[in-house]
Amino acid sequence: MKLTTIIRRYVETDTGHRVPNHKSKCRHMHGHRYRFEVEIEGDIVSERGVSEEGMLIDFSDISNILNEFVHDIVDHAFIVYEQDELLLKMFEQLPPDHRIVKVPFIPTAENLPKWAFNQVEPHIKTSYGNRLKLIAMHVRETPKSWATWRV
Ligand SMILES: [Zn+2]
Repeated sequence: MKLTTIIRRYVETDTGHRVPNHKSKCRHMHGHRYRFEVEIEGDIVSERGVSEEGMLIDFSDISNILNEFVHDIVDHAFIVYEQDELLLKMFEQLPPDHRIVKVPFIPTAENLPKWAFNQVEPHIKTSYGNRLKLIAMHVRETPKSWATWRV
């Protein structure tokens, strides 16, 4: 058995959505306190005397990446499926600076981690050349409901 180091970090957002075809209440406009949590696997930086010695990557660097590429896009925003004609028509009434994020998928708990994974993955790296890999994105939609997109 090969042992490895895995670190996790999350960011939370207040985000609206709806699941247009849902048979029950999820078709109504509503929001969640989402938690987007990355799981990163790799080798610890061994370069002596550098800030990241003993780490995979600085947690604050992960935080900055999560903020820029997930939080700042979907926080206090409404995620809408680009085929959700009813909602798009309604949103036309809003001022253009209103924060709407159109996506090519139904914004379910299962689809959002795949989107967030792709947003974050290209930015997970350090300047020390240590092996570093985003292996999962977890999304908590409610305290009882999570979904994961995993390598
Ligand atoms: Zn929901």
